[in-house]
Amino acid sequence: MVAPPDPPMSLLLELTHRCPLQCPYCSNPLKLERAADELSTADWLSVLDQAAALGVLQVHFSGGEPMARADLPDLVRHAAKLGLYTNLITSAVLLNERTLGALAESGLDHVQISFQGSDAAGADRIGNYAGGHAKKLAAAALVRASGLALTLNFVVHRHNIARVPDMIAMGEAFGAGRIEIANVQYYGWGLLNRAALLPTRAALDECTDTVLSARARLRGRMLIDYVVPDYYAAEPKGCMGGWARRFINISPAGRALPCHAAETLPGFDWPDVRTHSLADIWYASEPFVRYRGTGWMPEPCRSCDRREQDWGGCRCQAFALTGDASRTDPACHLSPDHAMMAEAAQAASAPAPPFAYRRIGQRGV
Ligand code: SF4
Ligand code: SF4
Repeated sequence: MVAPPDPPMSLLLELTHRCPLQCPYCSNPLKLERAADELSTADWLSVLDQAAALGVLQVHFSGGEPMARADLPDLVRHAAKLGLYTNLITSAVLLNERTLGALAESGLDHVQISFQGSDAAGADRIGNYAGGHAKKLAAAALVRASGLALTLNFVVHRHNIARVPDMIAMGEAFGAGRIEIANVQYYGWGLLNRAALLPTRAALDECTDTVLSARARLRGRMLIDYVVPDYYAAEPKGCMGGWARRFINISPAGRALPCHAAETLPGFDWPDVRTHSLADIWYASEPFVRYRGTGWMPEPCRSCDRREQDWGGCRCQAFALTGDASRTDPACHLSPDHAMMAEAAQAASAPAPPFAYRRIGQRGV
């Protein structure tokens, strides 16, 4: 008999897909939700109540741009009262003294600001938002002055990977406790723009050397999280800590997912938080149970020593590249599909095509 899973540790609320920026690697799905389809404040409050009762410890308010929702301070206040650790994942272009003050007063614990680069011209081109970088710098300074915990997140790709030393220096200058140097993950908009974004192996190796030496130099002062593209890895990452093992993601329209990219998978009837309890979704819904644990695994995962470390890699990537979500992640060198990764990586040496910017109505809607 299979033991019931532990309760989820984290809840990620995609409050909205609205965002002033248009990053070509956005983790939101190609088919973006419109404002009229978003959950109501009462729906989100109920989700928070149920999450706390279920044993969730952290709630991440994300999007799109979560600050596009006027009820964000109310949601943060409710989560804080329930004893949940609250994190805001934001582009920060709507963050100012007034809006930050309201969030801090509501009990917000942590702010993660995403940067599109280290220089204004390059960053504003990626986000397709003039003046965005300057607003982010001002917002990061406000967060530091407020005393809230701050993480700077830099999304890295072939257009800005040479500037990683400047990104690390920015983190130091702000006194951030943690920065993320996160290479683009190639799902959704990132996959659509892969030929424009994937760096070469040589550029990635240089970036890795930079991060490793900065980590050693800054040990005890600033943590540097580092995410490499699967296309140059020998083994896959343990995506989301395993399917439906730690995280629940709620889409703006209320669909519960084991990760933000899972809506790309066909053949799933994703449970709606307005008609299903979070506990039922976590413990008993078919989509959450389908790839949980190791029972679903094909070879070579089934007999592999790493099957309870990386859980066979990412189901969304397996589907995106092979058309079958139940195959071993092609990022693994043992996967029969691994050659696909090397073929895609070769294209990184070709001239970059223009970006397909992320826009509501651009794709699928
Ligand atoms: S990745 Fe860019 S477009 Fe997507 S939500 Fe974040 S800031 Fe907005
Ligand atoms: S065979 Fe499966 S479990 Fe083993 S390393 Fe590869 S993806 Fe992970």
